[in-house]
Amino acid sequence: MATLPTPAQFPSLKDTRDFLKDTSQQCIWYLPKPQRLCLCKITNEDVCEAVGLLEKVKNPRLSVDERLNVLEEVAELCCCPRHHRSKIYGTKIGERVARIWYEELKLTSTPSPSKKAQPVAVAVPVSPRRMFARHQVHTTESMSERLCSKLDLNTGTSGSIYMYTHEDSVFSGMIKIGYTCRSIASRLLDWGDCGHGEPTLLASISNIRHPERVELLTHFELIDVWHEMMWCKTHGRTHIEWFKTDVDEVKDIATRWNIWMHEANPYDRRGKLKEGWEKWCAWLLKKGYAINSNNMLWLHEWEVGKRKKIAEAEKAERRAEGTRRSEVKVKKEEEEENERPLRSLPSRREETSYSTRARKVKVEENRTRRV
Ligand SMILES: [Zn+2]
Ligand SMILES: [Zn+2]
Repeated sequence: MATLPTPAQFPSLKDTRDFLKDTSQQCIWYLPKPQRLCLCKITNEDVCEAVGLLEKVKNPRLSVDERLNVLEEVAELCCCPRHHRSKIYGTKIGERVARIWYEELKLTSTPSPSKKAQPVAVAVPVSPRRMFARHQVHTTESMSERLCSKLDLNTGTSGSIYMYTHEDSVFSGMIKIGYTCRSIASRLLDWGDCGHGEPTLLASISNIRHPERVELLTHFELIDVWHEMMWCKTHGRTHIEWFKTDVDEVKDIATRWNIWMHEANPYDRRGKLKEGWEKWCAWLLKKGYAINSNNMLWLHEWEVGKRKKIAEAEKAERRAEGTRRSEVKVKKEEEEENERPLRSLPSRREETSYSTRARKVKVEENRTRRV
């Protein structure tokens, strides 16, 4: 595990303010190994919220606790949601950074500079707020990039997708979407260890083909409501598969991807997306259409319809060809019949009857002679 920074290694409140004014939108998390700040950015939305909170903290009516809470919230907002927002909260470094900033704030607002700062002796209550932060995907990650990437063939080709939540009100409206190739019950037992009580299963879909991919595509289709939960001490990481949405929507999306996976069979045996689908992805992007389960399934159905139409057309053509051939045959025979030089030469049948008659005549002649 990477070495944690000390709170003193974080930028000062003044520097943080400058970062917020600046366009860099720098994450303030310090990385002890390369000895620099994290290079990830924070969103405009978070910058605005942090700036607003820094205005709020100037309010003289705020208690020390309230002020510390606001500063801690600023520290969280100034950490990138991808790696460090939940870490600064989960490791409680945020609380300690807030205390340092609080001292800085006191020094800058106190008229007498001779007054030496005393450590603040306040119990910071464990804040139940901000259990979730918006999840930000890497700039290199997108639906098309994920869809076109190779399947990990070690993850199992058949399994289930499940959706759960917890009873606690902070989880209201939040759904965790996961996949498993084991039983869902045993997977839910694992999630009970996170320390939020027993998970409540909301729905599940079995017989999922390439469940890891179906899960991933479902996540990316819900990118606008993608959240990550604060640092989980038990598992030593952030659980990022949370979504603020309703269960029916998740079920619809995952079901559509699963149908597509089963019926369109879009990946080859090596786990590579087939060329035809790569082309469709490029086409959707070019035309400005979304790459989502609806469009992919629609394209599949359209292709099936097209293949059916082509097959029908081919069948009809074969039938027509057959009719045409027999017509041609009849016509040819008629033509041959007409072309036969009947007038100059007797037909074979006539010839035969003629020769038969001739033979008959001969026999008659012989008979007469013998008599
Ligand atoms: Zn960061
Ligand atoms: Zn956990």
